[in-house]
Amino acid sequence: MTASNIRVRFAPSPTGGLHLGGVRTALFNYLFAKKNNGTFILRIEDTDQGRFVPGAEQYILDCLEWCGISPDEGPHKEGAYGPYRQSERKSSYKKFAEQLIAQGHAYYAFDTPEELEKMREAFRTESNPSPQYDSKIRLGMNNSLTLPIDKVDELINQGTPYVVRIKMPASTEITLHDMIRGEIVFNTDQVDDKVLLKADGMPTYHLAVVVDDHEMKITHAFRGEEWLPSAPVHVLLWDYLGWKNQMPKWAHLPLILKPDGQGKLSKRDGDRLGFPVFAMDWQDPKSNELTKGFKEMGFLPEAFINMLAMLGWNDGTGEEIFSLEQLIERFSIDRIHKGGAKFDFEKAKWFNQEWIKKSETKRLLPLVQKILKNHDIEATEEALTEIIPMVKERCQLLNDFVAQVAYFFQDPVQIDVASVQPKWDEKKQLFFEGWKKTLQEIETWDAAVIENTFKEAATLAGIKPGELQLPLRIMLVGAKFGPTVFDIAFRIGKEATTRRIGHFLTLLAQ
Ligand code: GLU
Repeated sequence: MTASNIRVRFAPSPTGGLHLGGVRTALFNYLFAKKNNGTFILRIEDTDQGRFVPGAEQYILDCLEWCGISPDEGPHKEGAYGPYRQSERKSSYKKFAEQLIAQGHAYYAFDTPEELEKMREAFRTESNPSPQYDSKIRLGMNNSLTLPIDKVDELINQGTPYVVRIKMPASTEITLHDMIRGEIVFNTDQVDDKVLLKADGMPTYHLAVVVDDHEMKITHAFRGEEWLPSAPVHVLLWDYLGWKNQMPKWAHLPLILKPDGQGKLSKRDGDRLGFPVFAMDWQDPKSNELTKGFKEMGFLPEAFINMLAMLGWNDGTGEEIFSLEQLIERFSIDRIHKGGAKFDFEKAKWFNQEWIKKSETKRLLPLVQKILKNHDIEATEEALTEIIPMVKERCQLLNDFVAQVAYFFQDPVQIDVASVQPKWDEKKQLFFEGWKKTLQEIETWDAAVIENTFKEAATLAGIKPGELQLPLRIMLVGAKFGPTVFDIAFRIGKEATTRRIGHFLTLLAQ
């Protein structure tokens, strides 16, 4: 199939860990692009030098790769529209700022931080605690609208720091058509004269996003709802720069909310409530603080993106488990919700468990083997190929495999004697001593044979086998979990089974 001209972009700022809301934005861009045979672009919005964090760009790429949604074009994979880092496109923005000034849609502003603060103080009222630089105020300030032209030239020639601001029209209605929300009408009085070019010559997000979306021929833009208040500025810029007919179609995605629905989910909520908010572990290079990610918490990427897709979208059938291919096939903008989506960590774990259950052993094997290795458990591929299907449905997180698998390879260290002791008696003691001897004599070590000898010995001793199974489980596993106990005995072998029974009996005798 030849590529369509549909081009979408994920445009993060490299400022730290990648929030799950960011991954969802990337995912929806990706799904839309793939569904329409289009191109998914990564653009690094790094014009705010003060917030730039080294390593964050590579980390973003790694997260997208882990999720299976690697971009088709980006700083790692130059296409025809590069460079893909805004800091490397600096020279292309200035001429547009100058064009806007020449057209009377923007102006130079020389106000110092002190002057700006003075203005805010002067106009601050109870109902307007942070007055904005706008049509009511700009004529009292230090800018190319108020200063004579030769003074402006002089200031610029002297190297006086300046910014370029958009001249927002007063009391004008701006209409935006959003693919999710329909027509949205803004009044320009709600928006200040945003800075377009900063004193360091870098554009702000507002100018850069419009210029780049135009130059990169972006056709559709999915971004978070938090950008909606800035949208009228962007609509005006598309118009002023003469590109109105090429403006991308907008889709502002609903917020991802805290579990209680009270506001936007933040990293701090994750820290407070004990769940990850970032896609992958993020170590802040300045503070060295390590923030846990979904990957390292033991999520499968299939589950992570499936869960994210369902935060704000569904396919209308009530089905919830979808692979990336299925999501591409079923994705449609008209099924994206307008309202915020509450994040529920229990539900996220449920998605992961469903995906662990669904995954083939060969998919899980290298992941489980790696986790076990980190816990000093050496497990062969052959053994794990048999064990993974036995225990996987008990694992919500990949890390749960450690507890579920460890006792197959190591004698348990923690043994829950207390769960057995109250109902323990001499009859049971004699049963296990006797059965242990029987086991030693078994020639064909097989789960069914082990079970038969167990039942026969129980009948002979006059004890219900059900009463003996829990003690046997505790002996072999150390605790009350795991698959059928005879399958465990079979798997760990005769020697380990009899050794663990013997060890337990000595523990009880103490
Ligand atoms: N750089 C913005 C961000 O960090 C991108 C917003 C947009 O997609 O327009 O989210």
